[in-house]
Amino acid sequence: MKTIRVAPPGKEYDIHINEGLLKNAGSLIRTIYPYQTVFIVSDHKVWELYGEVLTGSFYSAGFMAHTILFPEGEQTKSIDSLNRLYDELVEKNMKRSDLLIAFGGGVIGDLTGFCAATYMRGVAYVQIPTTLLAQVDASVGGKTAINLQGGKNLVGAFWQPKMVIADTLLLKTLSDRDFAGGMAEVIKYAAIESQSLFDKLQSLEGRGGAETVMEEIVYECCDIKRRIVEKDEFDKNERMVLNFGHTFGHAVEILGNYQKFTHGEAVAIGMVIAAKLSKQLSISATDLTPRIVSLLRRYALPFDCPYRPEELLAPMLHDKKNFNDKIQFIMLTDIGQNTIRPIAISELEELLERRDDQWMN
Ligand code: NAD
Repeated sequence: MKTIRVAPPGKEYDIHINEGLLKNAGSLIRTIYPYQTVFIVSDHKVWELYGEVLTGSFYSAGFMAHTILFPEGEQTKSIDSLNRLYDELVEKNMKRSDLLIAFGGGVIGDLTGFCAATYMRGVAYVQIPTTLLAQVDASVGGKTAINLQGGKNLVGAFWQPKMVIADTLLLKTLSDRDFAGGMAEVIKYAAIESQSLFDKLQSLEGRGGAETVMEEIVYECCDIKRRIVEKDEFDKNERMVLNFGHTFGHAVEILGNYQKFTHGEAVAIGMVIAAKLSKQLSISATDLTPRIVSLLRRYALPFDCPYRPEELLAPMLHDKKNFNDKIQFIMLTDIGQNTIRPIAISELEELLERRDDQWMN
């Protein structure tokens, strides 16, 4: 088992990573939690696949486990689900000393984390992420949120988990599309921070190859995220680099009505545009696009943007991360090396609307 200690001041916790770890979840949690009762939040699909193993591990470690299940999918990250969750916790008599368990992908992690941050002014929770995206990204760093009608992740809180348990064996049952979505975030970490991870991913034969070294991949990504979030728990500075590909990606997601592309697919397309822009602005000495495209292709991710440059602009203007009429773009100086570059909206308009400019093609 590999363990990473994440240490935001006063809120340290461990991320445990191993193949087959789920059956030990109860005993691992026993090391940090002396009481009796846990409340597991999950979705129907994850529960059907792995619920028995998880409850078995809690019973063997002497816990009493309640379960609250939601339908799978992004629609579960809503205020209605949150209300239902609060109501069920009250009905089941959850006390402040009890523990919430988020057992699922990023949707369940974000919903449960936000509930933990707010129920009775804050209760402890543990993340047991079951998708690749949640293991390498959503479960680490303490960001929690739900969606509103008006947009994604508009209500949330920073609330660190007490432990993260990542069983890489669970990733075997992910659909190819969900696996690829997680790989987009893995490629993002490599592109911004680790040439060696980038080279390793390039040497593997797609999903099958990556699965043979999944523990290492999850470890390396979590360690990169740890280094970044420890410097910037509340997303004011350094943490911005995790948005590489996300500003354009977000626009791609919106233009596709959140239907056409998954988040990971949109980020993949966004990374390609960001690499092209890095070259266009002479931030990278060479054009890194072919290397990024080659890696995305290897992991069955899209790379061509189906929208015209000027179409991307409108959704980017409403990005909640804009400040002072500037958008902070994460660019690459090289593979594994990032830099933050604020671009004035007027400059971006000019760049995106210059019809004679071939940089997007
Ligand atoms: P998800 O939670 O919807 O899971 C995707 C699908 O995979 C679901 O149908 C789920 O039932 C299924 N699934 C989960 N585990 C499985 C397994 N082991 N085997 C088979 N199927 C399984 O989606 P996601 O991609 O994990 O997360 C996306 C969410 O994460 C978004 O809401 C996004 O905003 C959020 N997110 C949060 C952060 C953060 O820092 N808090 C970071 C990135 C993304």
